[in-house]
Amino acid sequence: MASSGQTVVVNGEHGTIGVENPATGELISTVPVLDAADVAALAARARAAQPAWAARDIEARAAIFRRAQKWMFDNSERVLATVVSETGKTYEDANLTDLGYTAVALGFWAKRAGRYLRDERVPVRDNPLNLGKRAFIRHVPIGLVGVIGPWNYPLVNSFGDCIPAMMAGNSVILKPSEVTPLSSLLMVEMMEACGLPDGVFQVATGDGSTGAALIGEVDSIMFTGSTRTGRKVAVAAAERLIPCHLELGGKDPMIVLADADLDRAANAAAFYSMLNGGQICISIERAYVEAPVYDQFVGKVTDQIRKLRQGPPGGGVGTVDVGAVIFPPQAEIVDSHVRDAVAKGARVLTGGQRRPGAGRFYEPTVLVDVDHTMAAMTEETFGPTLPIMKVHSADEAVALANDSIYGLQASIWTKDLQRGEALARRLQSGVVTVNDALLNYTQLNLPMGGWKQSGLGTRHGADGIRKYTKTQSVMVTRFALKKELFMFPYKGWVSRSLLGFYRLLYGRGER
Ligand code: NAD
Repeated sequence: MASSGQTVVVNGEHGTIGVENPATGELISTVPVLDAADVAALAARARAAQPAWAARDIEARAAIFRRAQKWMFDNSERVLATVVSETGKTYEDANLTDLGYTAVALGFWAKRAGRYLRDERVPVRDNPLNLGKRAFIRHVPIGLVGVIGPWNYPLVNSFGDCIPAMMAGNSVILKPSEVTPLSSLLMVEMMEACGLPDGVFQVATGDGSTGAALIGEVDSIMFTGSTRTGRKVAVAAAERLIPCHLELGGKDPMIVLADADLDRAANAAAFYSMLNGGQICISIERAYVEAPVYDQFVGKVTDQIRKLRQGPPGGGVGTVDVGAVIFPPQAEIVDSHVRDAVAKGARVLTGGQRRPGAGRFYEPTVLVDVDHTMAAMTEETFGPTLPIMKVHSADEAVALANDSIYGLQASIWTKDLQRGEALARRLQSGVVTVNDALLNYTQLNLPMGGWKQSGLGTRHGADGIRKYTKTQSVMVTRFALKKELFMFPYKGWVSRSLLGFYRLLYGRGER
């Protein structure tokens, strides 16, 4: 297998996967498909390494991640070139998110892990039986964590989830998407260069079968990907009775009220729907706009989107605005949503087709006259499209936004912040932003995760690291009533006194 001393070299006897640059169609590398035996070998190595890693002082662990943060910047050209070549996204997209997020996350977890994982004192005064005792909760590493990632952000949603898992004292095996494995292999090299012990972080390249084999080996699974695969992962994890955390698809609504700052809202709609070629789980996938400002909003957004430059990012920074469709079947899904909408009466104001020429591109597209009979408004498109629907009230917008199997991310745009907040509370979504979108992801102490079929659990915040631990509750008796009091012949007397005591404390009901 490619590269470093940290990745076990296995045969890859079960075939290789070609890695393509979606912006040019060029084959840039191949990686082996690891089978169950290969994954078991990685797991054995990870398990051997984990106890010593967990035994290290958390500050000693953090020092390695701080070095990695510096490495990211010292090697930024290489990181960006790797991400851009295997995704065909623009340098700006890779810089803002893949590089920027990952570097910030390395520092964040290095700094905060200790606080999130330290022992927590639990008061025991609620029950007189426990007078004289001390209780606390420990967060103990779970052992070996498996992380399975998607192709849209080969660093953010893959390696990004490995950071807190490792900081918590676990070994990690990452199964990156078969479409974009090269960035993850670079992270192996980085962690090795920064002093991570052998076996603590390994990458298992391969396809779905490799992912399935990984679930068979680990003590906990963190999965990011489609709802369809997420369901299979949950079933496999249930069979092994291991925890599984799922970050799945979304159909992120934007609600624009009549009093919104229209320029800002339109700029944001254009930016967040087209960022990363629209291949973001927490983008803007659909917009609902109040009737009085609908025409104006549509005009502004369409002007912005029409001007976007698209093409291979080979020319470097600042040359194109929208990159390629990363995953081959995704271009078909995007096109089918547009065709379905048009067949049911939607109008295409700009874009609406694959871009002719080399590479895999779909033109930045604005759709209007849309409704919920259309896949473009109800299914995850995950491409450079923005369908915009007219609504007659905020209530209608909320009802339509909630009319979805997904509940990942939503945004509300209004100058009335109180009203915005009140509406946010009515949305069935794991995250709601008022007058912005997506940036919550950069606030790493704020949990992020989906409701409904968008996932189980959250990443970021205290839970974003504690989920990679087992809790152990410890109760220490400092002094106690003499145990003989609970024994014959005093038993009846003690029991009656206790009842009286309880009655005194709780007899009037909880207040
Ligand atoms: P996918 O579900 O097709 O694949 C994800 C990963 O699962 C890949 O590494 C794949 O090899 C692996 N896999 C496939 N079958 C498996 C199996 N049976 N067992 C174990 N692993 C298996 O998703 P994708 O197409 O790579 O990614 C796009 C999806 O990811 C979109 O739906 C998007 O919304 C979602 N996503 C969600 C978030 C989030 O944070 N909620 C972030 C990014 C992407």
